Parts: sequence; structure tokens; C-alpha cells
Amino acid sequence: MRINFESCDLCGTCVSVCPVDAIEISEYRAIIDREKCTNCGLCLKVCPAQAIVKE
Ligand code: SF4
Ligand code: SF4
Repeated sequence: MRINFESCDLCGTCVSVCPVDAIEISEYRAIIDREKCTNCGLCLKVCPAQAIVKE
């Protein structure tokens, strides 16, 4: 999973649903930790901006 920085509005929804705490939001961007991410797809489903892409 990867977050498209141009679409992401830093709403935080993905962070609250990730079961393994793989997403962090800083002041400027949301980042998925690839080491932690299990590709469960939850964040992708809930992102209101469709900013998360599978790759
Ligand atoms: S849910 Fe989508 S728009 Fe919101 S912080 Fe996550 S990636 Fe960005
Ligand atoms: S795919 Fe699942 S594990 Fe990976 S960042 Fe999204 S919610 Fe977290």
C-alpha cells in the first residue's frame, strides 16, 4: 500500500482503522510503514479521498 500525497488531506481515518498501526501522520504527510503493513486493505476501503493505492 502506498499513500498518494497529492490526494491525501491528512484526515486520519486510515490511521484509526489500521490494525497494526502501520500508518503515521506527520505535519505534512501520511506514511505507511511497509515493514508493518500486512496489506489487509482496510485503509484503502475507508479513505474518503481515495488516496491509498495498492502496489
Ligand atoms: S484516510 Fe486517506 S485522506 Fe485520510 S489521512 Fe489516510 S490516506 Fe490521507
Ligand atoms: S493495508 Fe492494512 S495493515 Fe496496511 S496500512 Fe492499510 S490498514 Fe494498515
